[in-house]
Parts: sequence; C-alpha cells; structure tokens
Amino acid sequence: MIIGILGIQGGFARHKDMLRSMGYNTIIVRTAEELKKTNALIIPGGESTTLLNLFDKLQLSEAIKDYNKKSPIMGTCAGLIVLSKKAELAQYSPLGLIDIEVSRNAYGRQKESFIYKVNLELNLKQIEFEAVFIRAPKIMKYGSECRVLSKFKNDVIMIQNDSVLACSFHPELTLDNTIHKYFIKNFT
Ligand code: GLN
Repeated sequence: MIIGILGIQGGFARHKDMLRSMGYNTIIVRTAEELKKTNALIIPGGESTTLLNLFDKLQLSEAIKDYNKKSPIMGTCAGLIVLSKKAELAQYSPLGLIDIEVSRNAYGRQKESFIYKVNLELNLKQIEFEAVFIRAPKIMKYGSECRVLSKFKNDVIMIQNDSVLACSFHPELTLDNTIHKYFIKNFT
C-alpha cells in the first residue's frame, strides 16, 4: 500500500515522517499521475486559497474528486477546508467531498495558536489526544451522513463520512499516531 501526501504547499513533511515511522510507503503527490499510484491521500494544512489555486493550475480538482470515488482522503486544517462543501474563499469553491460548512481562521491568528487535550471517539473507544490548532477552521454545519469523532468545547473538530476523514487541527505535529492509524486501518 502506498499513502500519498499532497505536497504542493503547506505542512506535508511531518505527515510523511509520521507515516514512515509507522512503516508505510509514502509518496509526495504533485500531479494527477502521481495520485494514481496511491491507495489513500492526505491533504495537509497550509493555506486553502493557495491550495485551491494550485489545484486549478495543475488540473488536480477533478483528479482528486475522481480519486475519492474509490480511494479515501484525510484532510487536516487547510486540507479540511479544501474538502468541505462551503467556506469563505474569495475566488474558489472547495471540492465538496464532505458535507461540512466551515469558517476559516475562526480561532484566531497564528499567534493565537494553541494546544488542547481533546477526546476522540474512535471505534467506540474514547482516546485522549493533544490537538494542535493553528489558524484553524471552525465547522459550522455538517450533514446527516457525517459522523462526529471529536469536539473542542461545543465545536466539532474531527468528522468523517465513508471516504473522507477531516480534522481542523494538526495531528502530524504530535508524536501520537492514533489518527493516522485510524485513517489507514478504517478507510483503506
Ligand atoms: N487558515 C488557513 C486557511 O484558511 C489554514 C491554516 C492551517 O492549515 N494551519 O487555509
């Protein structure tokens, strides 16, 4: 199995390090051709407007939408935003692969970044996880086919449907590989 990590912008390196330390083969994906070689894809954090702009330029929007008909995708932070159905993005529409509406930068600016111990509900078990929030988006609405996996106070911060796992924080910035493991074991 090969896990692709979208590497056109943002924090892809730490996802790669984590997956490698778990023993998985990874490739950094920058083209539709490279995407075809993978069994699952991670879209990292970064800047959602830049990501969507580059998707347009590199013909990746349709390729990723097509890919997700058969293969799973995990999005973190900006990755969650680009996978959403609706976000305030000046000139681009997100991919709409998970039925969530998000508000960008809803927890403040870079210097208001924070770490918070949250509970994940994974396969009926409660697991404590240190969530790192950096200019994180807030999930304002979600559809009935989505399953909520974690909350911070009253906000949903981790959610899934059948083929997409999305979190508003950065699981790759801790040493805890619980979320990456959950994605690979449950989606691939
Ligand atoms: N605020 C960024 C955006 O709107 C996301 C930040 C992040 O990925 N850490 O795209």
